[in-house]
Amino acid sequence: MNGTTIAARATPDGVGALAILRLSGPQAHDVASAALGGKPLQPRLATFARVRAEDGSVLDEVVATYFAAPASFTGEDVVEISCHGGILVTERVLERLFACGAVPAEPGEFSRRAFENGKLDLTRAEAIMDIIHAGSDLALRAAQHQLQGAIADRVQVTLDGLIDVAAHVTAYIDFPEEDIPPATVESLGGQLQAAEEQVNALLATAEGGRLLREGVRTVIVGAPNVGKSSLLNMLLGYDRAIVSDRAGTTRDTIEAPLSLGGLCLRLIDTAGLHSSEDSLEQCGMERSRRALAAADLVLEVADVSQPPVPLPPPPPGAHSLLVLNKADLPEHPAWAGKPGIRISCAQGRGREDLGQAIRSLFLRSLGEADTVAAVNTRHRFALQQAAEALRRARAGLFAGESPDLIDIDLHEALDALGSITGRVDTEDILDRVFSTFCLGK
Ligand code: GDP
Repeated sequence: MNGTTIAARATPDGVGALAILRLSGPQAHDVASAALGGKPLQPRLATFARVRAEDGSVLDEVVATYFAAPASFTGEDVVEISCHGGILVTERVLERLFACGAVPAEPGEFSRRAFENGKLDLTRAEAIMDIIHAGSDLALRAAQHQLQGAIADRVQVTLDGLIDVAAHVTAYIDFPEEDIPPATVESLGGQLQAAEEQVNALLATAEGGRLLREGVRTVIVGAPNVGKSSLLNMLLGYDRAIVSDRAGTTRDTIEAPLSLGGLCLRLIDTAGLHSSEDSLEQCGMERSRRALAAADLVLEVADVSQPPVPLPPPPPGAHSLLVLNKADLPEHPAWAGKPGIRISCAQGRGREDLGQAIRSLFLRSLGEADTVAAVNTRHRFALQQAAEALRRARAGLFAGESPDLIDIDLHEALDALGSITGRVDTEDILDRVFSTFCLGK
């Protein structure tokens, strides 16, 4: 248990109808009560009260809710104060809480205390941030699954199996004169293989996890004037890019987030890829090439009323979709029977079809939308370490290596897996996870 009582604004800075200030720690009730002119608070009851300055003058009318330990988010005494959402008024109320004995919270400190008090494992703590930052329905759903323990539970199953294997192996360390009997080698080997498969199955969600958390890097390419900027504007629903019939209008890459087909796309409009003497345009084209090289999805836009213009092939590993724009104009015969999503930015037609096509391209890497829980970069790193150690342990087991060597590999796998949920809590992992949290969380 932490000795200090922390306070911070839990809602974002800025003006709103209400703001929520949060207190957590052993003095949470007394600090809040002092700030409220001595009014006592009952657990789980919202209490209307006035925050008073030292001289008794009213700073604000608020509603305070007290959650007595351990039945609170952090596991400590917590008080949430809803005050009016002005910048100055929240500052005054917060200052009053500090004057009454609270100290300012560090970013992520509420969640860190929740973790330290066993209220959350690390994957659930990370899920809270994923929920806050989710940019699409699928990302939100995956984060909610993670908060319900979808990743932690799977890791725990693997850990339980491995602890069993480690216990057997340890038994043989104590009797060095005995070899591990072949039947035991077989069964332990089978358990290790199952653990490796479970780890690999989680690892396979990493790519989907990146797409959900960071968004699908989507690059719009095509010859000048085919309607790339018009497509960007149509998809976003507002004029983000300049549309002009003068080729080379878009000189820089423009990036904008967009929710389409349940996914978050990071839409990048590129300077038209074409030869130009203009140094500014050439610079823009270099950026386009770089954006293209890192793309997850390339939308190749063509003008369906004109003959096809060859485009460079999409980068390896990226999906591509042919988008035939200007479908309101007569189709050029060269496109007859060619697959491609026909849209008209001028008429605002084809957004749905494009969304569907993108969704079906990525659903495979995202798994089934209803069950997906996708690991993040930190988890992936730990899983790779675990997989590697498991491979070594199994090879050692079948090669008749001494049990204490196998035990070292097993413990490396156990530590790596344990670091995912925070069972093995090294300070640097905790610092890394919680430092990415926002203040008041
Ligand atoms: P970009 O150079 O590829 O970014 O092309 P723009 O978006 O700037 O559009 C080039 C020209 O095509 C502009 O005059 C647009 O008004 C026109 N345009 C874009 N989409 C359509 C469409 O669906 N139908 C028709 N008829 N014209 C379009």
